[in-house]
Amino acid sequence: MYIGIDLGGTNIAVGLVDKEGKVVAKKSIPTSATRPVSDIIADMANLALEVTAENGLKKEDIEYVGIGAPGTVDNANGRIVYANNIGFKDTPVAEIFRKTWDIPVYLGNDADCAALGEAHAGAAHGCNNAIMITLGTGLGGGIIINKKIYSGFNSAGGEIGHMVIVRDGKACTCGRRGCWETYSSATGLIRMTAEAMLADHERKSILWQMVEGDIDKVSGKSAFRAADEGDELAKSILKDYFEYLACGIANIINIFQPEVFVIGGGISKEGEKLVAPLRELVSREIYTRGVAQTQLKAATLGNDAGIVGAAMLGL
Ligand SMILES: [Zn+2]
Repeated sequence: MYIGIDLGGTNIAVGLVDKEGKVVAKKSIPTSATRPVSDIIADMANLALEVTAENGLKKEDIEYVGIGAPGTVDNANGRIVYANNIGFKDTPVAEIFRKTWDIPVYLGNDADCAALGEAHAGAAHGCNNAIMITLGTGLGGGIIINKKIYSGFNSAGGEIGHMVIVRDGKACTCGRRGCWETYSSATGLIRMTAEAMLADHERKSILWQMVEGDIDKVSGKSAFRAADEGDELAKSILKDYFEYLACGIANIINIFQPEVFVIGGGISKEGEKLVAPLRELVSREIYTRGVAQTQLKAATLGNDAGIVGAAMLGL
């Protein structure tokens, strides 16, 4: 049995995970990211001990602990190099964790862990090669090659959201312009929805009714729900959004040819409303003909992907 921990900016989720990648039990607490990092790490270790004891297991029943964190991690040295939104900077996570519980600790980037989780027990189950993107505030990427995370020689790779798809396009948080993330993350869809609504001066679109006239209430779901009602503006927003998303997916498939390309994050809950139009667009743009084609799928593990992937880090 393994422990998988998803260390996020809002919550710390700890799960007891079996060899098949099934979450047997889990618990979560608020991260309260403004407190000292040593307190956050001690809380993770204590919660891991709690989950273990509550399920009738002893410390010795757990082989290791895996931790997925937002940012750049140095697994070989047990450190989180940089994770801005939780205040970790060159933090010796494994060493601090082992002050509470002396057990092997493995570290991974959260998007990489989500991809590893889906490859072990989710939409890409059984695949040797898979790529996953997470559409949330940003656009996270995880590349799995021969069942292992690929993150470059310095553990900082796999940042496929920062591939430029529009030269001199919208400014990105990373400092470049026109990154895929600025167009295809949930944040990108919200921005495109709001921009289109503000250009609709007569407010004919039902999007305006759905947000009760308040542009700040636009969410990643707004355009999907308005399109369900046949709203033309919403359909044109989604058409643009799908084209940006498909452009990046086709770029990645052309390079890696994974068996499965998984789409996760909040937007992926739209399921086939998202994936079906993408399949159509991507199939027109990929280079290969006459060989087996990459399957495009929505993620199936939801919020558990990070826990499952973290628990698989030591395999
Ligand atoms: Zn960027």
